[in-house]
Amino acid sequence: MFLVLVCGATTLATPVPSAKEDYPYQPVPFTAVHLDDQFWAPRLETNRITTIPYAFGKCEESGRMDNFARAAAILRGQTNVSRKEPGYPFDDTDPYKVLEGASYALAVQPDPKMAAYLDQLIALIASAQEPDGYLYTARTIDPDHPYNWSGNQRWVNEEASSHELYDAGHLFEAAAAHYQATGETNLLNVALREADLLCQTFGPETNQLHVWPGHEIVEMGLAKLYRVTGDPRYLALAKYFLDVRGSLPGGDVYHQSWIPPVQQTEAVGHAVRAGYLYSGMADVAALTGDRDYVRAIDRIWENCVGKKIYLTGGIGARPDGEAFGANYELPNLSAYNETCAAVGNDFWNERLFLLHGDAKYVDVLERTLYNGLLAGVSLSGTKFFYPNPLESDGNYERSPWFGCACCPGNITRFLPSLPGYFYAQQGRRVYVNLFASGTADLKLPDGSPLKLTQATRYPWDGAIRIIVAPEKKHRFSLAVRIPGWARNEVLPGGLYQFADDLTNEPVTLQVNGRPVAIQLDRGYALLDRTWQMGDVVELNLPMPVRRVTADARVTADAGRVALERGPIVFCAEWPDNPGGKVRDLILPGDQPLTAAFEPALLNGVETIQGRALRVSRSADGSVLKTEQDFKAIPYFAWANRGKGEMAVWFADSVDGGEALSKIGSTGGRAGAE
Ligand SMILES: [Zn+2]
Repeated sequence: MFLVLVCGATTLATPVPSAKEDYPYQPVPFTAVHLDDQFWAPRLETNRITTIPYAFGKCEESGRMDNFARAAAILRGQTNVSRKEPGYPFDDTDPYKVLEGASYALAVQPDPKMAAYLDQLIALIASAQEPDGYLYTARTIDPDHPYNWSGNQRWVNEEASSHELYDAGHLFEAAAAHYQATGETNLLNVALREADLLCQTFGPETNQLHVWPGHEIVEMGLAKLYRVTGDPRYLALAKYFLDVRGSLPGGDVYHQSWIPPVQQTEAVGHAVRAGYLYSGMADVAALTGDRDYVRAIDRIWENCVGKKIYLTGGIGARPDGEAFGANYELPNLSAYNETCAAVGNDFWNERLFLLHGDAKYVDVLERTLYNGLLAGVSLSGTKFFYPNPLESDGNYERSPWFGCACCPGNITRFLPSLPGYFYAQQGRRVYVNLFASGTADLKLPDGSPLKLTQATRYPWDGAIRIIVAPEKKHRFSLAVRIPGWARNEVLPGGLYQFADDLTNEPVTLQVNGRPVAIQLDRGYALLDRTWQMGDVVELNLPMPVRRVTADARVTADAGRVALERGPIVFCAEWPDNPGGKVRDLILPGDQPLTAAFEPALLNGVETIQGRALRVSRSADGSVLKTEQDFKAIPYFAWANRGKGEMAVWFADSVDGGEALSKIGSTGGRAGAE
């Protein structure tokens, strides 16, 4: 380790080795995985060339960049600075998040113009940092009149609302990404100056502040700084921020601070905060070996996946408090399902996989990814969802931006890192977790190269061909995930079930054209053999249209059915169905449904078609049944053609008045911006 001290702060001069102890299952970095498929590659490219510049433009337009310029002017002693209040005390995080996404994109695709823009932005951010490392424009712009959530002194309102440590956490995440992408330390040094200030300020000593972060993420950010620098103070502070939470009076459920995290058993409170907390606990557990955190997040996961997750992988049912509801409280029309919570859910499930090596976490990750998370951004890459309800009465649509703009920023930073979720390694075992055409360049334990090439039309087709090409003959084990949905399991925990029996179409696996019996080990088919250049694995995951029902305790879905095919959850949307009405459609179980790919629809999607019934009551009170064409599209693709009705869950029978009672709303309307 070689560190240079500048102005009392730790300033990184050269890279140092990463942490000794870390996740037992190591992801193959996104820089080593190249997707060239028809599904993800175009989306990642839209994110790179459209969404990232667009989001930077929105940050400029909305004064978020000006906040740094105003703070810098104040620090230079200028007195004629406009004191316009920032929109929120966490507005600084939006440029940080887009900067993080832009860094990931730069890591795989050089873009000198974008690199120069980032350097300019980083200089602006650095200029707003106070001499001791504090960086929070909501206070620096006007210290005598800080934002009213911010408290009259630094950090006095941190546990409630100031978001000072939230801002710091996103800065740390961006800085680690930018450093790893470019090798440049300009943003990293800004982050380390602030991290050093936090290390001095917060901790168990009597002369330190005993405060937990009001909105978690600084724990994950500090873990990344620790990995980058090897400085144990950052890891110790991340652990302190977890352990102080709930250990002192004044906590509450909303902030996950009513009891210490290691004692928590249920997914509660603000869902984005929760996902970041559980992810931070996983990071600190991996880096310290502390099993108490693992036991806690395992218990919380059982609760979340067994009782509080939507079919789309969305979490956080309640608009009020942007929070988890009670067990089985999963209304559809009012489902909050913040896009950021879906991102947090995928952060968390990825980390659980990296701790345990079990495919059940990837099942949750994949469901969230293709459905609840991907719905957060339009096909154009310039419109966004904040809540992601599972039903619309026609009054909800995507927005070009938000006053509280957390969700677009999270999309911009998640998507370019997606290739890093595809493969992992532990010793001589190589995990194939997700499926898309493309290549991955790995190193086997002896350092020899291994190239994996996938060819597939996933998620539209379950035929997956993997060319295994070690540079030299090599014995190792390839662990190919057999998704839960292909094994008759909608999600681990049994909250949802397949209503039909289509087990007559088995999953098949072949190596070099010879069938292999699938012996499952924690959701993986293990292929342990001596591999050589040109070996071919062929996996076939049949993708019939499946009907899904929910646990009877989910009252919003009682008597209802939803449709899936492969990893994709479907919905009916107004343009595809007669009369534009979809919320009162009935899909009897005996109605055949077929799937077809429509290349001209919504950039090319698989659709499900059949016949549905609509019931209504005539003027004399009798029940009228009419039959009509039915079409469903992937849930992620809805709301790209204007406002109108949408539904995921449909009544499944036409037993007269009872069916009528099932028609329409399954909860209030989504209540966000
Ligand atoms: Zn958000």
